[in-house]
Amino acid sequence: MSDLTQNLQLAEKYLQRFKDNVTGHFINGEMVTPEGAELFDNPTPIDNSSLGQVVAGTEADMDSACEAAEAAFDEWSNMPGSERKKILHRFADRLAERAEEIAIVESTDCGQALRFMKQAALRGGANFRFFADKAAEAKDGQALHQQDHTNFTVRSAIGPIGVITPWNTPFMLSTWKIAPALAAGCTIVHKPAEFSPLSAAILAEISAEAGFPKGVWNMVNGFGESAGKRLTEHPAIKAVAFVGETVTGTRIMTQGAKTLKRVHLELGGKNPVIVFDDADFERALDAVVFMIYSLNGQRCTSSSRLLIQSGIRDKFLAALTERVKNIRVGHPLDSNTEVGPLIHPTHLDKVMSYMDAAKAEGATIAAGGERLADLGAGNYVAPTLFTNANNQMKIAREEIFGPVLTAISFDTEEEAIALANDTPYGLAGYIWTNDQGRSMRVSHKLQAGMVWVNSENNRNLPSPFGGVKSSGIGRDGGDYSFEFYMETKNVCLAHGTHRVPVLGR
Ligand code: NAD
Repeated sequence: MSDLTQNLQLAEKYLQRFKDNVTGHFINGEMVTPEGAELFDNPTPIDNSSLGQVVAGTEADMDSACEAAEAAFDEWSNMPGSERKKILHRFADRLAERAEEIAIVESTDCGQALRFMKQAALRGGANFRFFADKAAEAKDGQALHQQDHTNFTVRSAIGPIGVITPWNTPFMLSTWKIAPALAAGCTIVHKPAEFSPLSAAILAEISAEAGFPKGVWNMVNGFGESAGKRLTEHPAIKAVAFVGETVTGTRIMTQGAKTLKRVHLELGGKNPVIVFDDADFERALDAVVFMIYSLNGQRCTSSSRLLIQSGIRDKFLAALTERVKNIRVGHPLDSNTEVGPLIHPTHLDKVMSYMDAAKAEGATIAAGGERLADLGAGNYVAPTLFTNANNQMKIAREEIFGPVLTAISFDTEEEAIALANDTPYGLAGYIWTNDQGRSMRVSHKLQAGMVWVNSENNRNLPSPFGGVKSSGIGRDGGDYSFEFYMETKNVCLAHGTHRVPVLGR
């Protein structure tokens, strides 16, 4: 039975305050709405009605936040790791207490089905706890020995960080970036996506409750071209952790060049899932469906290109088509819903343009292909499967970022590898085969930052996460995150045994 009515009541309870009050910034420990601020509307993907007004941050707002982060840096970076750990755990405790609210607000703001958002607070909390426990060891380095000297390295927090996040799963992605930055001893200025600002406001609120010193956590709402740009240019900001589109990533590098920003870019993907004839058919089918249609296909690691071997192609595509047609599209707060509405009407238009492209290029629309207007004024699109496609088609080359899968057939292992790598992107790759040797060969040859064999995007917090080629620069996860958020210093100690060069004696 649907629990939609009950969840709608919860949505009313948790979202009313955003409708009644302008959502401002969080600067130096205070929620601020600058006088006379320009506002923008925040519509819900469910029916495009307003969830309230949000402050469009100016350069001056961003400057205040960056200055606050700079002023707080000394205290926070010098605080013992064990103390930072306590605050970060307290933050995770508060996330867990507000899990229901976070899930409902995130679903309503982004259109992601509640079934995937229910665990968001706990997973976000897990990100904080994982890095909290590592805070004390963040400064650890290496000892590097020579005959007459011993070198040791120490790490120290790099400085205030700009964190810029997208709208697809903003809550999770924000925690994934902010937790290691804070654990490392950095202070942060967060610029959430203008399409989905609400969970960032809740995160900032919780930071105040958790007891971070003022200025450690700052958040400025607004648009990329103004507030976001200023963040990437501000001299106090030493590094920018960015998640978003590839074209925005290139802009951020350019904008940050003058102040020599270190950048970590997690960008787009057109990730292949390769299913060989010998794969476990049912498990592969489940994974293929899950990895493109979950999270509305608005997922950087979604397997949006299915490369299917010719021996099982017809049987696999027939089963897949049936599954895609069965996917339940609907209100994101209905626990039965598997695919919710897309983030924004402009994004819906973009996704729909690929239906036209598929037809024009001669692919077959085996399932979906249309808008679901009978679901109301929201941005609903039918889960879509393109078959009879080839890798040169637009639908195989561009990131659609919706519940849309392009299937391409291949005959040999070599062909599969060539097709998989024939893309500007290189974020993730998925391989389904029961031949261990093949899984090893293909894993080594895939041009991707991450490869899953017979699995669907299992996360391991210590493992490196990130892409190659146009999918990004840098890695997150475990110590990889600290490498980004910290500087390494080498200290060289003489044993008193070497000859010091003599001049002018
Ligand atoms: P986007 O690039 O349009 O926006 C992302 C953020 O950048 C927003 O906060 C935006 O305001 C800001 N921004 C835009 N222009 C800017 C500028 N000139 N300077 C500074 N900030 C600026 O991305 P989106 O549409 O919000 O998100 C979808 C994209 O994110 C997809 O391409 C997806 O693949 C990618 N993504 C990647 C990963 C990953 O881990 N690789 C994860 C999630 C999403």
